[in-house]
Amino acid sequence: MGEPYLLTPGPLTTAFEVKEAMLKDWGSWDGDFRAMTAALCQKLLAIAGDDGGEFDCVPMQGSGTFAVEAMLGSFLGHDSRTLVLVNGAYGKRIVETLHYLGRDHVVIDKGDYMPPRGDEVAAALSADPAITHVVLVHCETSSGILNPVKEISEVVAAAGRKLLIDSMSAFGALPLDVRDLRYEAMVSSANKCIEGVPGFGFIIARIAELEAAKGNSHSLSLDVHAQWANFKKTGQWRFTPPTHAVAAFMKALELHAEEGGAPARLARYERNRDVMVAGMRDLGFETLLKDRWLSPIIVTFFTPAHPNFSFPRFYDLMKARGFIIYPGKLTVVDSFRVGCIGRLDEHVMRQVVNAARESLEEMNVDSACPPEEALKERARLAA
Ligand SMILES: *Cc1c(COP(=O)(O)O)cnc(C)c1O
Repeated sequence: MGEPYLLTPGPLTTAFEVKEAMLKDWGSWDGDFRAMTAALCQKLLAIAGDDGGEFDCVPMQGSGTFAVEAMLGSFLGHDSRTLVLVNGAYGKRIVETLHYLGRDHVVIDKGDYMPPRGDEVAAALSADPAITHVVLVHCETSSGILNPVKEISEVVAAAGRKLLIDSMSAFGALPLDVRDLRYEAMVSSANKCIEGVPGFGFIIARIAELEAAKGNSHSLSLDVHAQWANFKKTGQWRFTPPTHAVAAFMKALELHAEEGGAPARLARYERNRDVMVAGMRDLGFETLLKDRWLSPIIVTFFTPAHPNFSFPRFYDLMKARGFIIYPGKLTVVDSFRVGCIGRLDEHVMRQVVNAARESLEEMNVDSACPPEEALKERARLAA
């Protein structure tokens, strides 16, 4: 057996060609690498639907969180007041970041199960005219909930406020087209739906916001304005770029386009989810979320109630069969997650379900039903 599949929301399983693209060294100052960075930005802007030249793309070294922190620190001025929409760990991380940055903020926290809705955001904005910005997580990867980004964008724009989006685990598959919905900036990273390797994130922002961000950042290395200005002036990253990760990403973008772009990728991920969820439900597993909010990115399942079930054992048995799954990240109930993204298709997902069946058998677990309390809790909170 080869390497296990990563059923995790990034790092994820990449194509052979993506790995192969890293077998070469690049000089960061060299014209070829500068051209590669420029092409990367153009391709990402095209995926975001910017045909009017109103936006620009700024790559940023580090994992996705570095790029989120760069976006927040650069676009939220010192006089800003931000409404953060939280329904899971990544929303909470944004609140924590604003604490570090010392930026004024208020929070709507929906817990683990429910999305923030347009009407409550509209009410919060009209009740508090001092709010300048709203921050939303597109797909909350901790639970897998897909937040209603268009609905939120409409009420934020109608209230004349600015929207920043953490679309880390959604961009490249789920639509976030600047011609369809309004936002000032969004952030994503190399190792999610574009299926590259980890090493950098990227911010896509209105040029007017990039210009206005001068002097806002708390950080030298995470200053989006300075990084942008340097790309414009020299075509270079300000500090050592992850050259191999950039080369791999170019190959990943090529494969993304060959597949049919974001709509085709979304269709594959949805099929992955549907095949996997149906198979897991047959085994008795229950999803945390109702179908309506199940993202095609990652799915959270309740840990089964059966006394013989142990997650660490299940993890090892799945790994022995070639699949790396993901522990849960919920605050209230025990859970685990299975990712649907990366270089895998429905045939792989059928093998995942078979591996889960065999693993349950090996543990002598005849049903994967969750505890009664977990279902009651879900019904209560979702009511
Ligand atoms: C992956 C992810 C991040 C960034 O996480 P890193 O571990 O720093 O790459 C941020 N927000 C969301 C919603 C994510 O899925």
